[in-house]
Amino acid sequence: DLAKQQQAMALSEVMSPAADWYKQQLKKNTRAIDYLKGRGLSGEIAKRFNLGYAPESWQGLEAVFGSYSQDSIANVLVEAGLIIQSEAKRYDRFRDRIMFPIRNPKGQVIAFGGRILDAGEPKYLNSPETPLFSKGNTLYGLFEARQAIRDKGYVIVCEGYMDVVALAQLGFANGVATLGTACTANHVRALMRQTDRIIFSFDGDAAGQRAAKRALEACLPMMADDKEIKFLFLPTEHDPDSFVRERGAPAFDEAIRQAMPLSSFLIQVANEGHDWNTPEGRAQTQHAAKPLLLSMPAIALRAQLIRELAQRIGITPAELESFCGFKPVVEQ
Ligand code: ATP
Ligand code: MN
Ligand code: MN
Ligand code: MN
Repeated sequence: DLAKQQQAMALSEVMSPAADWYKQQLKKNTRAIDYLKGRGLSGEIAKRFNLGYAPESWQGLEAVFGSYSQDSIANVLVEAGLIIQSEAKRYDRFRDRIMFPIRNPKGQVIAFGGRILDAGEPKYLNSPETPLFSKGNTLYGLFEARQAIRDKGYVIVCEGYMDVVALAQLGFANGVATLGTACTANHVRALMRQTDRIIFSFDGDAAGQRAAKRALEACLPMMADDKEIKFLFLPTEHDPDSFVRERGAPAFDEAIRQAMPLSSFLIQVANEGHDWNTPEGRAQTQHAAKPLLLSMPAIALRAQLIRELAQRIGITPAELESFCGFKPVVEQ
């Protein structure tokens, strides 16, 4: 409604001056610059992503917006998640952090992520959910990656800010991040508006494996035969940032070439923890496959998966279809 739109408009008007200010502060802070250099990032890449630095100050943004004692502006800053109001005190949410502005597809800053420079908790601090920003709808880096996604013909989806920025540094400018949250149907929809080819490349650890499964589940209802979805599994200790910096761009290119097609991953997920070599294991696989197949539209790929799974389970495709509750196709 109108009131909500007006509120969002007021919020968006404070985000861009804040981002500009964080960017200026980065230029003045050698510790922050050295941190980014230490992670292999050039000034050019920092500029492309509008990286900034929030100084170690409790009222830093007063330099941009004036005194926090003025309710009219302070209330907007609180709503925007830039300052925190605790009883009578108002202070900056982001202090002594590397700042990653998160932009919407129009290029407007809608939120920030802030990374601590040294060890400490939390490692990343994000803007709260606001009328401008909802995590489950937002992909970090999509605005910056759009042209590269068109040029390369696919998108690389990873978990973190640093993955996106480091990939861009090494020539993979077509990366975006889900920001550590599960990949949602809205994320997949937004990706599919850009391209028919998606490569998920989450961290190699257990959390990354879980994220890949969630991404598979989010993709299945939106699958079509002209879409190519793949999963790139990195060695356990790596994420895309560490992998591409340690092994180099050609190694990541090779990993992309060898990424696992959605069909193989679906079969692997169905069989996970079960044994192809026993009737029990095959029966369990059949049960695990059912909800995955049921969530797919009736496309040719689904028929292929049914054939493949049925064969490995040791039943006929018709038996698997009837087990899943699919209506038999009536010949015309
Ligand atoms: P880095 O390489 O800078 O150490 P990372 O991106 O590899 O960080 P992960 O721990 O793999 O960090 O987390 C992936 C993403 O999840 C982060 O980029 C961030 O968006 C989000 N995230 C991680 N930790 C937190 C946290 N404590 N609070 C909010 N979001 C977080
Ligand atoms: Mn991780
Ligand atoms: Mn990392
Ligand atoms: Mn990581």
